[in-house]
Amino acid sequence: MGFDTSGLLPLSDALQGMLEQLACCCDSEQLPLPEALGRVLASDIASPLAVPPFDNSAMDGYAVRLSDLASGTPLIMAGKAFAGQPYQGEWPAGHCVRIMTGAPVPAGTDAVVMQEETQADGDRITFLAQPEPGQNIRRAGSDIGKGACVLPAGTRLTPREMPLLASLGVATVAVRRPLKVAIFSTGDELKPVGTPLAHGDIYDSNRYGVRAMLARMGCDCLDLGIIPDDPAQLRAAFIRADEEADVLITTGGVSVGEADFTKQLLDELGEIGFWKLAIKPGKPFAFGRLPRAWFFGLPGNPVSAMVTFDQLVQPALAKLAGQRFERPLQLQAIVAEPLKKSPGRLDFQRGILSQGPNGLEVRSTGSQDSAVFSSLSRANCYIVLERERGRVDAGETVTVEPFGGLLL
Ligand code: AMP
Ligand code: MG
Repeated sequence: MGFDTSGLLPLSDALQGMLEQLACCCDSEQLPLPEALGRVLASDIASPLAVPPFDNSAMDGYAVRLSDLASGTPLIMAGKAFAGQPYQGEWPAGHCVRIMTGAPVPAGTDAVVMQEETQADGDRITFLAQPEPGQNIRRAGSDIGKGACVLPAGTRLTPREMPLLASLGVATVAVRRPLKVAIFSTGDELKPVGTPLAHGDIYDSNRYGVRAMLARMGCDCLDLGIIPDDPAQLRAAFIRADEEADVLITTGGVSVGEADFTKQLLDELGEIGFWKLAIKPGKPFAFGRLPRAWFFGLPGNPVSAMVTFDQLVQPALAKLAGQRFERPLQLQAIVAEPLKKSPGRLDFQRGILSQGPNGLEVRSTGSQDSAVFSSLSRANCYIVLERERGRVDAGETVTVEPFGGLLL
């Protein structure tokens, strides 16, 4: 789709090219707060309240007026203020009010003196330290001002946002409906788990990986199973996915040899680009449009499928779902053992990041063959090696990207 496919396409160009074409396609609905977990906010949340809603005490102690303390004589306790039970009586000069954490401070309070800085003799309280004005008072609105934007549209609601919204009295929220994603695996050699393998067969692993990542993203998944390398069956599966889902993700059938086959079909149904990405693992990748749905064709190699999903498809699906997407954190680490690498592609090697005596250390999980799945399971990060870089010696510094929420 308008890209030069003769050479190898840099990852950043592929990503930018896709994101430019995509926009949120999910309507919004109003849900009760507990049901909105994992959903994406459709609009900004402005705080209906100031937080805290009133000036209150940060300590157990005594509410005082500075003018009463000036003489240095003990103050008489006029009464008590508890959280949920404000002090309501008169507050005569020369008196203080016993106050507990979270209780509203009585009108006129200049400071709260913590209990440890006082001595009580019956209801006569001696103050051992001179408080600063405002000391130990949490001011109304100091956390969140009334009307302030607390969470922007596009925020995915996690357990961290739930108590925040509840603290504002938000009972329902406008969220996007989940993105609906159809998936299938292609290949005559593939069998579903739970069935015996004939000679030459392998288990379909990609579908379980892709499903799991879609679940982490909060997408609704329509799993169309395994489709053999048969034009009629593939065609029917493409058409069904296009009718029922926002997005179709397939694995396999996009590498040289098979691409022509899939390409023919997709050219007929929609507008598809087949790219050779300058990344390893994950060279072949297809992106395009069916009549209604967007299409992502991942490589068949299991590690390639996972890595291209994580790096390329995840930000694209986030945009379609209306979700803000932040690039994952990248750190610098020292390589503990040499790494094999040849110049030409951006490598996402699988690594184990740990804290060494002199800072972060990383080592490879072993074979980086894109068919070796165990290397991904043992890893906790990518070792991101620049396109033009060659072999890396022990002691060199490399960029690492700890796995994000999709792979954890
Ligand atoms: P393909 O991209 O279809 O040429 O497949 C590349 C390699 O990945 C081949 O060795 C396939 O057998 C393997 N492969 C393709 N799809 C899957 C899958 N769903 N699960 C496991 N391996 C697969
Ligand atoms: Mg295949």
